[in-house]
Amino acid sequence: MPRWQTAQQLQGAAHNVGAKASQLTLAFTLGELRSMRAEFNDQMLDLEASLQAVVGQTANAELAQNLVTAASDFRRVADELAEAVRHRVTSAAALTVQQMDQGRRRERDLARLMGDHSVKLASYSGTLAAEIDIAFAAYRRDLMRRLWLQGFFIGFAGVLMGILIWRQFYLLDHRLIHRIRALEAEMAKTDLDQNLLSKHPEADEIDAMRNELARLLSRLTDQNAELERLATTDGLTGLANRRSLFDHLEQEVYRAQRYGTALSVVMFDIDHFKRINDSWGHAAGDWVLRKIAREIHQLLRRTDRAGRYGGEEFVVLLPETDLPEALLLAHRLNQRISDTVITPEHGMPISVTISVGVAALAPHENGEALIYRADQALYRAKQEGRNRVETAITPADFGRQKEK
Ligand code: GH3
Ligand code: MG
Ligand code: MG
Repeated sequence: MPRWQTAQQLQGAAHNVGAKASQLTLAFTLGELRSMRAEFNDQMLDLEASLQAVVGQTANAELAQNLVTAASDFRRVADELAEAVRHRVTSAAALTVQQMDQGRRRERDLARLMGDHSVKLASYSGTLAAEIDIAFAAYRRDLMRRLWLQGFFIGFAGVLMGILIWRQFYLLDHRLIHRIRALEAEMAKTDLDQNLLSKHPEADEIDAMRNELARLLSRLTDQNAELERLATTDGLTGLANRRSLFDHLEQEVYRAQRYGTALSVVMFDIDHFKRINDSWGHAAGDWVLRKIAREIHQLLRRTDRAGRYGGEEFVVLLPETDLPEALLLAHRLNQRISDTVITPEHGMPISVTISVGVAALAPHENGEALIYRADQALYRAKQEGRNRVETAITPADFGRQKEK
């Protein structure tokens, strides 16, 4: 039970016991006295119990001692009064009027004395209740302060938790998500950043994964490059294949027409190549094809592009080259091939010649038509006896020829 409540209880008990004791003088029979005495005793027990509780709680020792003394004085006087009343009630018949008056006076004096003690008791217990009330207010203030302090600590812990969670999130984002996104971005690039392969001092699973992916990417890039090379290169000669040659032709025609620059095509075919195969075997024929590819390569500029058009037919694209310049190159090529003595592995020296057709791009002409005119010129070179260079006729002449 809280202190202030026990103090109030004591105050109440003091008041009750005082009221009960004052009734003792009113008893006329022994029965009445007994029942009043029993009620008084009950009240007195209540008072003593509250008194004990309060004395254990108060720090004011002097006041506690006064209270105990007042209570015992009170009980003593009350007992005396009860004894006087009992004497009057039991021996009433034998008493003289004088003795009766004397008894009554004594009862009155005792009742007055008991009243004084009762007032003292009530006053002490009131003081104690007030003191305890003050102490309780201080206790309440202390409690409030503790509550505030607790609230503050809970708030502080909340903030701390928030910071921790934020930090965890930051680490997760920075160490994991950020790096995975960076990795995704790297992988989205077609060219591989070599930094990806660099060893991190704090390498972990993600770094290992990154390195593994980088290695895979690197292999994939190499394989793609190899596939691209295989798809555009002629396996025997290493020159551009027919498909790649036509891609380049298309680009060069577009560029020449867009910027108004010249573009020429040289097409040639090895003369009587079948005889080489027949006389020296297919391997010797292949050897000749490879050798001729190397010879062409040495005559060309970096911007020129040579390709294998068919079996032993080749095409050279000459960007920014007009017809006279292309003819010059065709003659030099023709001369160089006929001057070259080719000695296949395990074979006899062989000399070959080529027949060449040359055509320059006409305005509004497409690549296919240009190649066709070069092919016609080559056909004419064959017709005219081989090992020679022929110029293609213009598209206009070509049209007129068709009409005839
Ligand atoms: P022409 O002077 O009229 O051009 O006579 P040619 O014998 O060169 O012409 P033809 O078209 O009759 O023969 C071409 C030969 O080239 C036929 C073919 O066996 C051979 N040939 C085509 N491709 C290859 C190849 O990759 N390797 C070898 N060794 N021979 C090839
Ligand atoms: Mg031929
Ligand atoms: Mg041929």
